[in-house]
Amino acid sequence: MTMFNNTNIKKLSQHETPFYYYDLGVLRQTLEACTNASNQYGFHVHYAMKANFNPRVLDMIRSYGIGADCVSGNEVKAAIEHGFAKEKVVFAGVGKSDKEINLALDADIFCFNVESVQELHIINDLAKAKNKTANVAIRINPNVDAHTHHFITTGLDENKFGINIWQLNDVADALRACPNIQFIGIHFHIGSQITDMEVYKSLCTRINEMQDWFEDHGFQVKILNTGGGLGVDYYNPDTNTFSDFESYFKVFKQFLNVKPGQEVHFELGRALVAQCASLISRVLYVKNGQKKNFLILYAGMTELIRPMLYQAYHVIENLSREEAGSKSQESGQEKSQISNLKSQILNYDVVGPICESTDCFRKDVELSESFRGDLIAIRTAGAYAEVMSSNYNLRDKAQNVYSE
Ligand SMILES: *Cc1c(COP(=O)(O)O)cnc(C)c1O
Repeated sequence: MTMFNNTNIKKLSQHETPFYYYDLGVLRQTLEACTNASNQYGFHVHYAMKANFNPRVLDMIRSYGIGADCVSGNEVKAAIEHGFAKEKVVFAGVGKSDKEINLALDADIFCFNVESVQELHIINDLAKAKNKTANVAIRINPNVDAHTHHFITTGLDENKFGINIWQLNDVADALRACPNIQFIGIHFHIGSQITDMEVYKSLCTRINEMQDWFEDHGFQVKILNTGGGLGVDYYNPDTNTFSDFESYFKVFKQFLNVKPGQEVHFELGRALVAQCASLISRVLYVKNGQKKNFLILYAGMTELIRPMLYQAYHVIENLSREEAGSKSQESGQEKSQISNLKSQILNYDVVGPICESTDCFRKDVELSESFRGDLIAIRTAGAYAEVMSSNYNLRDKAQNVYSE
């Protein structure tokens, strides 16, 4: 499945750039694959809203019966406004303010994922003032294979997120001392862009140990929340349109010790939305140097900061030159016409217009010879792209264009 063909490229070329192009067909296909895989085991999926809170995206995700995982008061508010049932809204985050906690208490959300002993006491006090009881899950730092997997870079004791295992006795004491808190389960989130299923296998082992600890200390664990982090294929967005949800959920089915009456929850962000959008920009200028060629786009780090922030890789395509040749859906005759049009392949540093030298999407990108006005697509821009956009340099907010 490919996002671009000559028909939609023609349509896209009528819009002012930069814009985010949302392919709602890709989103639908991803959500179907995810819910088909999770439903066979009765697993509950929440969407980590911070990945993308575009209203059309939220509405479609909600329509698949998926819940909302929020990390701010405004996200809780937006989830409720977009029709997510309050019984399916959870609120995580290492720094929830009193105002945010009160908002979530007023909304009667399903659960607070609590990240410190002090936070437990604060939620208890605020709930007491409202004569309410707050459901909480304790976020635990599981220290899963910290030495072998690079995405967990800090040790157990140094991570700002979650509660360390050596603090669990204090947690148990606090839970007993807080009458306006109802402990319902344990929560984990070990990192992002994880594609190695062995990591999740290790996580399952840790979750099993932790639930035994709580049960041994007299707490009933109703919810096992495994967090999110499932990765996507940034290198092959067309051949791997969605992640391997089947294998992902199967690991938990096989290795998690789920007791009767327990629910298993997931919080996927990136895996649900990353592939459904591309950032589209025209080439403003081409600078041919002695050693380097620069393609200067009108999109920059203000629209997609991932390459500058974490050296993230995104496929870059010149839709005006390469779309038909590389997607090979055309008849032989059309193909040969296109290859006549095709010129030499050149190396470009693809950069934005922002006054920062780090404003570069990628160096040495191989593209057909490109010209001012060409339409460039930066793929896999559905997660952590639009939500991280800024108006630095007093830039306009990029528009959204939808496939339907
Ligand atoms: C960010 C986040 C997620 C989602 O992470 P992805 O890598 O996008 O799947 C899930 N849970 C929590 C608590 C998060 O902070």
